[in-house]
Formats: sequence, C-alpha cells, structure tokens
Amino acid sequence: MPALSKRTENFTDSVIRRMTRISNQYGAVNLSQGFPDFEPPRELLDRLAQVADEDFHQYSITWGAQNFREALAQKQSGLMGRTIDPNGEIVVTCGSTEAMMAAMMTVTNPGDKVIVFSPFYENYGADTILSGAQPIYVPLHPPEFSFSTDELEAAFKQNPKALILCNPSNPCGKVFTYDELKIIADLAEKYDTFVITDEVYEHIVYEPYKHIYFASLPGMWERTISCSSLSKTYSITGWRLGYIIAPPHIIDTAKKVHDFLTVGAAAPLQEAAVTGLRFGDEYYRELQKKYTEKRDLFLKGLDDIGIEHTVPQGAYYILLDISSFGYKSDLEFCEALARDVGVGAVPGSSFFRENVNNLIRLHFAKKNETLNEALNRLEHINKLKRGSAY
Ligand code: GLN
Repeated sequence: MPALSKRTENFTDSVIRRMTRISNQYGAVNLSQGFPDFEPPRELLDRLAQVADEDFHQYSITWGAQNFREALAQKQSGLMGRTIDPNGEIVVTCGSTEAMMAAMMTVTNPGDKVIVFSPFYENYGADTILSGAQPIYVPLHPPEFSFSTDELEAAFKQNPKALILCNPSNPCGKVFTYDELKIIADLAEKYDTFVITDEVYEHIVYEPYKHIYFASLPGMWERTISCSSLSKTYSITGWRLGYIIAPPHIIDTAKKVHDFLTVGAAAPLQEAAVTGLRFGDEYYRELQKKYTEKRDLFLKGLDDIGIEHTVPQGAYYILLDISSFGYKSDLEFCEALARDVGVGAVPGSSFFRENVNNLIRLHFAKKNETLNEALNRLEHINKLKRGSAY
C-alpha cells in the first residue's frame, strides 16, 4: 500500500475531542471540550423550527447568506468601530475552525513561518501543518501569561508571514491589554506581517477587563484577518457558524479558499442564527453576567477544595496545577480523573509548546447543577495523589 500523506504524519487526533470520548466512556462530568450543556436562546430555537418549513434547504451564497452577512456586519461594525461591508468584507464559514484554516491558506505559502503564542488552542498546530507553514512559538509567561517584547521581536526577526492571536485566550484566559496589542501591532507593521485573530470569546470577558478588537488598532485593519464564530456567543457550538472579517482584497481570496473547502455553511442554520445577530446589547450583558456567576461559583468551589488554579480574565477555562499529585504525565492524570473521580479535563500539555506536564484544563460553560456535581466529585481528587493513603 502507498504511504499516506506526509502532511498528516506529525499530528495526532485532537486531545480535546479525545477527552470528550474518554469522559463519555467513564460517565464523567465532561469539563474537557468547551461547550455548554444549557440551551441556546429560545428565540433561535423557535426560529430554527420555523425555518424547517421555509425555503432554506439549498446552498446559500457560498460566502454566506445575504441577511446573515448584513446582520453580522451591523453587529460587528458597532463593536469594531468601523463600517464593515457585508458584501466585500465578510466570509461566513463552518465554524471559526474553518475560518482559521481558510485564513492560513489565504495568507501563507508552504514553508512560511507563523508566530503562535504558547499556550495555544491546539488547532493552530494542525492549521500550520495542514497549510505547510512552520510555527514559531513565543511563550506567554505565567502567572500573568505576559509575553516578553524581546522574545516576540526575536520571532518577528525570523521573517514570519503572520501571527496568530487568540484573544481572549484559550486556554489561559488572558485578555490582552491595549498596550500589549499595541506592541504586537507595532511589530506587525515594522516587520510587515499579517495578524490572524481568533476572537470567539469576544463576549465572554469578566469585569474589569475589556475586549479590544485587534483590527481596531490604528493601521491594523489592513493587515488583520479577524476570525470568530457564533458558537460561544449563542451557545450553538454544533451549528458550526463562523466567519472571517477582513479588507476586500483579502476577503476576495478567502472566499475562494472557503468555496473550495466547504462551499458554504448550513443555510437553515444561518437563517435561524440571524435572530441572534439582531439581539440588542442587553443579550451580551446578560451573557457576561451568566458567565461571571459560573466562573465565581466554580472558582469558589475549587478554592474550598484547595486546588491551585488560574483566574480567567476572559473565556471559560481554568488551568489547575496538579504538581502535588506526583504524575509525570498529565494525560495519565486526566484519564485517572475521568475514571476514578468522574470529571473530564484536558491535559495542559496539549496547549503548550514547552514541556509542561503539571496543568490540566477544565471549563465552566455548564449548568450550575453540572458544575456543582463536578465540584462534589472533585472533593475526592486527593485520592489520585500518588503515595497517598486516601
Ligand atoms: N474551543 C473548544 C475547546 O477548546 C472546543 C474545541 C473544539 O473541539 N472545537 O475546548
């Protein structure tokens, strides 16, 4: 038999998605792959039911249904501080996963370098491999997960084509400040580099932190490919609705990449989601409040149990420090956690370029009762301690 592609030799399956399967296998409360177990807004579901009897069962325009792009342009124009053209500056994709991949294929040639902050969302590694690009990793240093300007500039000096910016950040919960974004912007300009953003947690930011769209920084619109999705904002991760916003000459190419990759996002789901895109500010305030409550509930529970953890400024992930448990492999720890304690988590090593084995990631995008059940189970986490007489 001939060999399979070299391109795929270097990556495994997604550890995040694998941990969901392992959690299900053991009946664990699955706090690994980040998705809610509560319902999307009722208005979206009602509209989805109506859409079944309407004429939305064939392809929409490949780069997104007209009314979806118009509603999205209107929403994002206010947030990003510029008038976004629904016809020339948006491509609707199958989730931000496709948006990021299409963005990479739009700007990079095989062999091009791309800066990725570490820790990073695991798809970026696969995106670089699939597009033939080479990642240059720049560490975000705990506990603040701040970067060193010198280390970042050293990466820029290697002539990268693009930088990937996940803000708010998965998994470390960092919300980049204006000053940090300005440093990145100045370097992107100085070294003439694109910036591909992943801003799927744009509406999940905790007081007093504020999300700043990278494309809104002076001079950055021209070189930024902004990727995001409706998954987290409207609790519809399974609908696979994402998008790219960028200047027209970039979007022209991204449209072609997207067209040949997937033709288009699901037409009935785009139509139903327009309802959400037209929500007023109140919806986003409530969402923030809901997630703030969940974060506080979960952090307090972890504090009561006495587990060391990060405090996210945005997104819905927490990194727990498992150094004291005596495991060499965080994957092994996560398997034991799912099997013996009944809680699903993601090993931190799948997010770090550096050799980090002492962190695991949990998320709290779950009903309060689910979080409480997870906390009840986590009270027994000490039984995983190696050499303990628990
Ligand atoms: N972004 C979510 C996470 O990090 C879900 C990832 C996925 O499986 N698409 O868990």
